[in-house]
Amino acid sequence: MDLAIDERPATTTILRDLEATVDTGKLLAMQGMTEQGWEGGRQLEAHITAMYEDICREARSLAEPAFAWAYHGVAAIRSNELRLDGGQTIKSRFLAQKLAPARGLVAMAATIGPRLEDRIKAYQAAGDTMAAYLLDLAGSALVESAYYSGFQQVEIKAAAAGLEATTPFGPGHSYWENLADQETLFTLVDATSLGITLTTSYLMLPRKSVSGISGIGQGFEVGEYHCQYCHLRRTCLLSRAK
Ligand code: SF4
Repeated sequence: MDLAIDERPATTTILRDLEATVDTGKLLAMQGMTEQGWEGGRQLEAHITAMYEDICREARSLAEPAFAWAYHGVAAIRSNELRLDGGQTIKSRFLAQKLAPARGLVAMAATIGPRLEDRIKAYQAAGDTMAAYLLDLAGSALVESAYYSGFQQVEIKAAAAGLEATTPFGPGHSYWENLADQETLFTLVDATSLGITLTTSYLMLPRKSVSGISGIGQGFEVGEYHCQYCHLRRTCLLSRAK
């Protein structure tokens, strides 16, 4: 991060001009398929491929991708907690270990807005469960795509300052189970500017929203992608799309 960012730790930057996309190949990969059909199986019929293409087109047209990020200095990292300059604390042995050399962290949030979810509900109400299911999958891929597109901008800024950004870590994955940390995260980045709210059980609305943090510094020993720390990796639909 450049010094201008360090000096304005609470400032949230909003990005809306993001590349976020989903295509038939990604949607199929999330279900363990390729455009040639099920792995080792038969070719997909043309009308199935056309249905996937229609859903992807619809999903892209409904998505309103937006990303928010804010930099915070790290005051101290102990064996099981990160304490930030603003006094916020994240208790996690895992994160304390992975972010150990961090001089700061970036808190992030992304969403594709509510329109795609409204369409899913309309499909459900009309009894078209297949379209609802596929559109839901496409929405998950799109919000992930928006998140990583925004994160790429953070990585570029960090690199320009001679720093590295760790792979993003987010509450709700198996390596960071304490969903209540969403509340802390929402004090670090102004996700409400994107229209994201938290329920009393710490779920984000719109549902197609993602939040997380990335350590900023030098000398991290973390893998390239956060799923490598998650025990759901082999079964998670989303991780298959990477
Ligand atoms: S495997 Fe799935 S649940 Fe686990 S970190 Fe990756 S996306 Fe999240």
